[in-house]
Amino acid sequence: MPVRGERADGKYVAHQIDELRAKGVELVAGSLTDPAGVTRAKYVPLRRLGDFQRSGMGVSPSWSVFCVDSGIAFTPTIGVAGDLRIRIDPATVRVVDDGIAWAPGNLTDQGGEPVPLCLRSLLVRAERAAADRGLTALMGAELECTMVAPDGGPASTGPWSPYGIRTSLDRSAFLVDLATTAERAGLSVEQIHTEYGHDQLEVSLAPGTPVATADAVILTRIVLGRAAARHGLRISFAPVPFEGAAGNGAHLHLSLADKKGPLFAGGDGPHGIRPAGGSAIAGVIDSLPDLIGVYAGSALSALRLKPGNWAGAAACWGLENREAAVRFIAATPGSPHGANAELKLIDPSANPYLAAAAFLSSALRGIDHGFELPAEIPENPSQSATVPPALPTEQPAAIDALEKSALAAELLTPEVVEGVVAVRRYEITTFGDQPPAETARALRLAWSC
Ligand code: GLU
Ligand code: MG
Repeated sequence: MPVRGERADGKYVAHQIDELRAKGVELVAGSLTDPAGVTRAKYVPLRRLGDFQRSGMGVSPSWSVFCVDSGIAFTPTIGVAGDLRIRIDPATVRVVDDGIAWAPGNLTDQGGEPVPLCLRSLLVRAERAAADRGLTALMGAELECTMVAPDGGPASTGPWSPYGIRTSLDRSAFLVDLATTAERAGLSVEQIHTEYGHDQLEVSLAPGTPVATADAVILTRIVLGRAAARHGLRISFAPVPFEGAAGNGAHLHLSLADKKGPLFAGGDGPHGIRPAGGSAIAGVIDSLPDLIGVYAGSALSALRLKPGNWAGAAACWGLENREAAVRFIAATPGSPHGANAELKLIDPSANPYLAAAAFLSSALRGIDHGFELPAEIPENPSQSATVPPALPTEQPAAIDALEKSALAAELLTPEVVEGVVAVRRYEITTFGDQPPAETARALRLAWSC
């Protein structure tokens, strides 16, 4: 039985198999990204593509509580018994490496219904909730990451110049390979550059529907990892890959429109923000203390989320303000995709489907309640006369706040909150007393694809 709403046409699948075979594909991967933000996969020979949709491939329910290492954080409801399926939609299959194609998976029961811990389906529902309100939501994504050596150590030791033409040209063969494979995989790469941190790289993606963008984030991580491997490198998506190094963000950009046009432009509010757009931003900021455990809740997240890191550690918003949790980007000719709100405090240890669902749902909640846009903080919040409320950035505080939050349970379901809390609590127990340098070493490749 197909996943509800997805295509199950035998002729279409046969045609897909022929096309993929012509491209040299032998194996098809279907992946799930779990509440700890780790992506896992099962593979089938190409001829079984249709089965990957119809019956799905079996996984234990414990896949949802696998941790950043090999630990399993069983809960009262998630144990060793039972069987779930990863199902893919053949229409989403992309070639990612020699002989390998990939598609994002949905976590379903055996009959084909998404289960509560299917985080991709959670985002599908958030997108539907926007549509039910007559709103179109689009999201863009920035993927910051760090190039590392095959053994996980530093990739280079020479001097680094942030955004340097030399630091990028030194890696030109890799970057050209990356751009070519990304294009072939159907990704809409907007920009690639070496970042501020040593050996740090950023790839940004054009806006798409939230689900398409979260899928594209995983696909980009895969393509980045494969291209890097061909050039003697690996890619770290740790929020902080080495103690003291610049952090990696996983910023998402949200724009919303109703039938009159964008909510973040053309209005009488600051920078053209319309009342509903202001409420959306207010909703996102209001929920940050509850949802920070979703956006930046791993054992390494707090190392990044500090003032001065441009990580958006302050619960406020401001025009082009890189220290604000929400950096507002106005509609100007310099912003080809129009006005949008960038949530900067998300890091790559967050599941992109879950982070996007939390971001969108909290914006919709702000609109539903008619929240008022808080005063803008136009300068560095650390130096502002108006001090934004402190956020529980340390992992134990962030996870306690998430666990207690009625708001998180309402927006994300109690089951999802329970899963996230279980895997992050495991991290607190396992890594909480370790020196950060050790944790960074242990988890450097945890979120890599
Ligand atoms: N690396 C910063 C972060 O951790 C962001 C830098 C930027 O604004 O691009 O989010
Ligand atoms: Mg950046």
